[in-house]
Amino acid sequence: MTMVEALPATRTTCPYCGVGCGVLATPRAGGTVDIAGDPVHPANFGRLCSKGSALGETVSLEGRLLRPHIRSHVDGIAAERLEEQVGWDEALDYVAEKFGRVIARHGAEAVALYVSGQLLTEDYYVANKLVKGWWGTANIDTNSRLCMSSAVAGHKRAFGEDVVPCSYEDLETADLIVLVGSNTAWCHPVVYQRIVAARERRPELKLVVIDPRRTPTCDIADLHLPLRSGSDVALFNGLLSHLHAQGCADQGFIERHTQGLDAALRVALEGGELEAVAQACGIDAPRLQAFYELFAATPRVVTMFSQGVNQASSGTDKVNSIINCHLYTGRIGKPGAGPFSITGQPNAMGGREVGGLANMLAAHMDLDNPRHRQRVQAFWDSPRIADKTGLKAVELFEAIGQGRVKAVWIIATNPLVSLPDADRAREALRRCELVVVSDCVADTDTARLAHVLLPAQAWGEKSGTVTNSERCISRQRAFLPSPPEAKPDWWAICEVAKRLGYPEGFNFNSAQEIFSEHARLSAFENDAAQGDERVFNLSGLDALSEVQYDELEPVRWPLRRGEPSAAFPQFRFTTPDGRARFVPTVPRPPVNAPDEEFPLVLNTGRVRDQWHTMTRSGRSPRLSPHRPEPFVEVHPQDLLAYGLRDGELARISSRWGAAVARVQASGEQRRGNLFLPIHWSDAFAADARVGALVNPVVDPVSGEPEFKHTPARIEAFAVDWYGFVLVRDVLNATDLAELAYWARASGAQFQRYEIASRGAEQDWPAWARAHLSGRGDWLDYADASAGAYRAARVADGRLEACIFVSPRPDLPEREWLGSLFSRERLEAGERSSLLAGRPSLDGDTGATVCACFGVGRRTLQKAIREHGCTTPKQLGQRLKAGTNCGSCLPELRRLIEESMAAVE
Ligand code: SF4
Repeated sequence: MTMVEALPATRTTCPYCGVGCGVLATPRAGGTVDIAGDPVHPANFGRLCSKGSALGETVSLEGRLLRPHIRSHVDGIAAERLEEQVGWDEALDYVAEKFGRVIARHGAEAVALYVSGQLLTEDYYVANKLVKGWWGTANIDTNSRLCMSSAVAGHKRAFGEDVVPCSYEDLETADLIVLVGSNTAWCHPVVYQRIVAARERRPELKLVVIDPRRTPTCDIADLHLPLRSGSDVALFNGLLSHLHAQGCADQGFIERHTQGLDAALRVALEGGELEAVAQACGIDAPRLQAFYELFAATPRVVTMFSQGVNQASSGTDKVNSIINCHLYTGRIGKPGAGPFSITGQPNAMGGREVGGLANMLAAHMDLDNPRHRQRVQAFWDSPRIADKTGLKAVELFEAIGQGRVKAVWIIATNPLVSLPDADRAREALRRCELVVVSDCVADTDTARLAHVLLPAQAWGEKSGTVTNSERCISRQRAFLPSPPEAKPDWWAICEVAKRLGYPEGFNFNSAQEIFSEHARLSAFENDAAQGDERVFNLSGLDALSEVQYDELEPVRWPLRRGEPSAAFPQFRFTTPDGRARFVPTVPRPPVNAPDEEFPLVLNTGRVRDQWHTMTRSGRSPRLSPHRPEPFVEVHPQDLLAYGLRDGELARISSRWGAAVARVQASGEQRRGNLFLPIHWSDAFAADARVGALVNPVVDPVSGEPEFKHTPARIEAFAVDWYGFVLVRDVLNATDLAELAYWARASGAQFQRYEIASRGAEQDWPAWARAHLSGRGDWLDYADASAGAYRAARVADGRLEACIFVSPRPDLPEREWLGSLFSRERLEAGERSSLLAGRPSLDGDTGATVCACFGVGRRTLQKAIREHGCTTPKQLGQRLKAGTNCGSCLPELRRLIEESMAAVE
């Protein structure tokens, strides 16, 4: 055993979703990292989903930004082709000098930071401190604005503070879980696994899913309500009316702990009759009735919600309509009961704690409260303090486009893919005087427009804390050596602050020093005796030594010194009178309605095995096969109506932009709805940035965009050729420019390109030789009658590249050909089968279903057919499929159903 192999595992936290799973990372010789779930982390108890399990495949230095750059000329070119590398001192001097000059000339409102829920709390803390305390503006916003700011606003309206009153344990002790706008099985898979396990232990636990789509989460649901997009407020107002009619009020709780019921109830009762609500929501009345009765009859109910609720022009009202029902029944602050907003990103919650949104101060204090402003300024001893709400994400990029904001520093996020109306955001950045981008990835859509690029440490190198959806603070710990010039984001921010002449507030030497200050601020004048107590309190952690910080176990706030973790002040809310607020919520349709020109509703969201703009997860060969290219889900009747065919390409457009994706027929859509995933960027596909299509309408309270409802149309994207290329290295952008369509996915030792092209006369042999030729033997085959062309290059017995093109999309499956890239030497039979594109049937596993163990569809079908595996458990016993993270269990169930139906 080598020294490296003998290293113990480092306990850290997954950098993907808001579940916040504990991870054991063990670096091995050769640069690989073994990943396992942390068996004692309270979020996951050893479980990981497919994304978490594949983290070891994402830690190489390939594609990393490794040095600072200053560009004199920005033209959208990829960073690795730049020559303007500079040292850190020069880059930091430049950034400070430019920001200082803009502030001197135009005032602090002309500068901004745009940050990310990927940041560690310590990074977030100093970013917020610099902007609000030293620049004196609140122009710092975060990509968390795009996913959960409506939940924040809803909590503040109801509770007076952004407090999530639930934990994962509540899901396990509830008797009814209502999932609203949450494809938990794919987006928060370990929470979903905990729900599955709880149902196995307690079959009486009921599950209701409220979602326009029938997602994989519905597979274990007792009831699915496929509501009309945006009609959630009507549905929950109807529930409140029903609870009222059935006498379900918890009068004692309402009288002692709430305020404002009459107004909220009056609004709910208007149009709250079952038939009217059913019509408004597009749901069968009996189904709705069944849900209402179940909710009314079940004291222990958790309503968990996510982006389907938040990402709407009525997102904040949706949140409050849910909370109203829990306040009315007193189902909050008790085991197994409460409204539970689950966050998207790993540290969305940490960003909220430090006030990383443009409408928040630090430590859960308010910008519009003079006492809070004075308190934070006094604690920071800062020269000034922001006194009004800054620009929220969409407004910020509008202001950049209008020239009102002249310098922006974007940290750990890729807004040119993720923002709504993303083409306009791109134009805004093109016109901006100074764009600074801190990232660990060299080539992102946003980095291509940066004047200054600052290399950040990546997951595995950086160190600090994150807070998950259930308010659990966990350590992200370094377990890999940092590239010499990659730096923590907190360090870069503090260095710029010092160069701007603010050494006193930013003299931090470590993440631990920042965390201690953050914890002290949370406790500063946080006092019930002064009538100003905030639930967010980390006084129990404000004096950690470096060693104690390093060894910090996962712990949930509130954490007052001398009190147990997560001890809430009993039913005392952070409002002036300590009472929670009912909020009247009037149903409003989405702002932009479908019309003749754009008759469909575009919905957007995540897929199981990718994360955000794929800068990390897109590098994993294990994760890519599940959904290897952008796709659009279309109801089968809409396929007919719009002249589309399953498996062909379509162009989806809205008033704001367009994208091209593979058509996937899906009876799980509501008719008239389309679903596009959010992940594909210009680095991974020709034209699939979904943000470009999304309308920039925002919720008036939270500023969260309406990602779930954009009027759109769809039409066939006519091409003459379909094909794919498998090749060892990434192709140049110029190689791909002449194609009408391409999408890239990472394989094990190869890249997979799905391609399509126009022009019946396309000379494929010439294209293939121009872009794929090199050393070795060139094998090719052209079938003139079918119009097909196939070629492969083999060098030293290894497959180096292959291309298959045809006028039809029914090409050989890519799995077997892809598997040949891992062979040191092809066997004679494999070489002779190359241009057939498939081996003997036994070797062809089919499209990957279980990413953890690489089990394909054909293999599973065979086990069902020939070995009688009729449950996921039996498939797991035979093939291991579904036995690690369990993310594929819904697909296994569906495959079993399909296979059994085919036999019958
Ligand atoms: Fe990471 Fe998956 Fe856990 Fe989310 S559920 S934190 S992606 S392992």
